[in-house]
This record gives sequence, structure tokens and C-alpha cells, in this order.
Amino acid sequence: MSQVRVRFAPSPTGFFHIGSARTALFNWLYARHTGGTFVLRIEDTDHARNSEEFLNVIYDSLTWLGMTWDEGPKVGGAYGPYRQSERDHVYKEYLQKLNDAGRTYEKDGAIWFKLLGERYEVFDDHRQKTVTKVKAAPTVIEDQIRGHVERVEDEDFVIVRSDGTPVFHFVNVVDDIAMKITHVIRGEDHLSNTSKHVELFKAFGAPVPSFAHIPLILKQNGPGKMSKRDQGALVEEYQRRGFLSEALVNFLCLLGWSPKDDSEKMPIKEIIERFDLPGVNQTNARFDEKKLAHMNMVYVLEQPADRFVALAQAYFDRQKVFAEGTAPTPEYFREVLLLSQPKIKSIEELPAYTSYFFREDFAYDEKARAKALGKGEPKVRLQELQALLATADFSSDAALEEAMKGLATSKGLGFGEYQSVARLAVSGTNVGPGITGIFRVLGRAKTLARIERLLATL
Ligand code: GLU
Repeated sequence: MSQVRVRFAPSPTGFFHIGSARTALFNWLYARHTGGTFVLRIEDTDHARNSEEFLNVIYDSLTWLGMTWDEGPKVGGAYGPYRQSERDHVYKEYLQKLNDAGRTYEKDGAIWFKLLGERYEVFDDHRQKTVTKVKAAPTVIEDQIRGHVERVEDEDFVIVRSDGTPVFHFVNVVDDIAMKITHVIRGEDHLSNTSKHVELFKAFGAPVPSFAHIPLILKQNGPGKMSKRDQGALVEEYQRRGFLSEALVNFLCLLGWSPKDDSEKMPIKEIIERFDLPGVNQTNARFDEKKLAHMNMVYVLEQPADRFVALAQAYFDRQKVFAEGTAPTPEYFREVLLLSQPKIKSIEELPAYTSYFFREDFAYDEKARAKALGKGEPKVRLQELQALLATADFSSDAALEEAMKGLATSKGLGFGEYQSVARLAVSGTNVGPGITGIFRVLGRAKTLARIERLLATL
């Protein structure tokens, strides 16, 4: 195991969104890439805004995405506890260290962190009052992604509020020191905090970790950062909708990182091998739900049959797809799903996409009906098909296709003349898997009955 120790440090103040998942993922990938340790630390000092519900969403989402943590809540570790709400004793001890070093003072009931340097007073127009500033050299951050960053920290800041609660900057740095974090990988929105953090590390005499600030994720449409309220922003939404976690992970990797040859679809093993911080882009990444849907489709398509069927099962269990009081045999269900697999973008589409396989009372789509019956001689075509299918070989799509083509040729017509009416008869729609596949899966009896049903309406 290498010395690399990274952490994902979420605050459970809201649902787990795409941006947080991406930050977690980059930390996890870096840990796996370097053979280091991935720590999960819960930053829950803000009692009023934290909830157990949100905490569980974090655990569930990380687990679903396959980002197992080596240390943290539930699994423990040598540097616990891993919830800041349980670490008061650590903060007291570290506050004492700063006191002893002469780097704190009390003012207005709060405890302040004292920067080094000469002090002077200046009137601040913005705040409309006189403030004390510190003549300080710029704090330098050699960020692994942003490069050389300098910021001047020229005002002392509060580390413990007058009500006794420690401030984010303080607990964040104390825990990074106490947990021996070597690399801080987090969103660029924290870059503005980093000079404060660096000054705190130095005041503690602790090594400053390496920083890597990841670019923001821009919302799909329009300017600005993607927020929790944006459409498609919540991880659990994708879980609920039956997206494959591997697809979401692959998509998230590409939000700000890409391998040199611009490969996109990669198994996680390969991503781990190729991921590195210098490969993370400096420019912001734009969230593209279409791209995610596409990535998901690519993964859905290549699922082995058993896993695909098992994944789909859950979606059928939740919706009333099957005709009242009936359930398909496992073999039939499997055949329906495998026939549909190449045609769908996500598993959530399956119940609606396949419903006509499971009931005889499906409705005819109005537009599809008008289109299929509005030209040629649909009734004659259906009768010819009926005659053909009464004796045709249903054992393979190819055999059925050959029979239908033979019929069309013998009548001097195109395959399409038969296909559109047949599709309407057996499915009520004009989209779906190949028509001969539908015939085969339905079987002779159902296929003929459905043609009869449509004929009766003509
Ligand atoms: N709790 C902070 C957040 O959720 C963590 C910041 C950090 O990673 O240092 O943004």
C-alpha cells in the first residue's frame, strides 16, 4: 500500500448530487490508482442542517456506484471516529495546540486565528467599518490541476464561533492533519478557502497536503454551475430509473477528465489504471444528459443476458405490466427482454416498451393505426399473413422472415406492406423490435389471435 491518503468529505445537508459523486469518484480513483487509502469523512458539524436521511443517501449512493471506502463510518479505521460530530475532543486538543503556539485570540466571544505579520487599520468601504489587516506575503498553492495559485490572506478569521461550534476551515484542516491526508481533491469552489487552510496547516507545523481542485460542472443548458435543483442532478434518481451504475461511473469520470487518446467507454479497471490528477482538465465540464443516456445504452446493450433480466425484473415488480391475475413464465419473460435489449436506452423503458407482450387487451395507438390502415389493402394483407402464419415455421426469426419475404415476392409487393399491418396487429404500435422476433416470441397461437382481433375491427 502506498502512502497516499485521500478523503471524500461530504456534508449531509442535501441529497447526493452529480457534483459530489464526481468529487468522490476522483478521490476514489486516485486512491485505487496509487494503491492508497480512500477515507470517507462526514462533515456534520452544522447540526441544524444535517440529517440522518441525507447521510444514508450518501452511504447508499457511494455503495451503489461501487466506491467502497477503506476507512470511515461503518468500516472504522485507525483515525476515527469519522463523523465530525463525534470529534469534539480532537478539535479541543488541536485548539490547545494553536493556543500554545500563540496563534489564537478571543474577540466578541469567538476564537480567532491569528495570521503572522504586521497589523494595520484600514477603512473598508464595502463593510463600512475600520478593519485590522495583516501585511502578509501571498500564500502559495501549487495546485495539481490549477497550477501555481497565489492568494493574500490578510485578515484573521474566526475558527470557533461564540456559541462554541468550530468553523469549517478549522475542522477540515484539523481532520486532514489528524487523518494524515496527503492529497486534497475537491471542487474548485473550495479554492478560495485553500489559502486559509494552508495557513492553518503551517500554524500547526503540519505538512501541507497536495491540492487538486477539480473544475466545476456546468449545467446542461445555459451558463452557471450545475446545482442540486437542476434536472438530472441527483444520483439516486438514476438509481431509481434503472441506470447501470457502471455507466454512470464511466460518464462521471469523463466530466473533467479524459485519457490522452480520448477513449470514452472504458471498464473501471482501465480507468483506474489510466486516471491521474495531471490529466484532469482545467476547463469546466458541461453536464450532458444525452451523453449519459447514450453511455447507459451502450452498457445496457452489452449486459450478459442473466444480469440484464435480473436488473429488469425489479422494474416489472414495481409496475402493473402483466394482465391482472397473470404472470409470464420465466422463459417467456426472458425472451421478451432479450428481444428488446438492443432497442432501449435504459432499463426503465422496458415495462412500457414491452407491455403488449403481457396482455391481449393492449390499445392500438391512434397514429400508428391510421398510418398502417390508411394505404393499400390492409385487410387482404392481414388475411394473407394469417394463412401464411398458420403453417409457417416459428422456430427462428430467419425462417419467419424468409416466409414473409416469399409471400411478399409472390404478390409482387414489398415487405413493408405486410410489416406495418402486422406490427399494428401484434403490438398496437409502429415501433419495437423486429417483427419476426415478435412473432417468434409470441408464438403462433397469440400471433394469429391478434391478427384476428385487428381483422374483426376492419
Ligand atoms: N464538507 C466540504 C464540502 O462538502 C468538504 C470540502 C473539502 O473536501 O475539503 O464541500
